[in-house]
Amino acid sequence: MCDHSPRCPDAGAADCCTAHVTADHSEQGWCRLCNGVILFDDGAYLTPEGRVRALRRSA
Ligand SMILES: [Zn+2]
Repeated sequence: MCDHSPRCPDAGAADCCTAHVTADHSEQGWCRLCNGVILFDDGAYLTPEGRVRALRRSA
């Protein structure tokens, strides 16, 4: 669970990818965030429920 202060965003939050990295596997192209989200270096992320989403990029 998150013990950061301020708390990391929930996995369902729009800004969930701003949570702290807890396991960096960037050599494999992904990292795990504090809220359980898996963030891939191609801009997609996987929620703990198994949903794949595209990271929103600001234009
Ligand atoms: Zn956290």
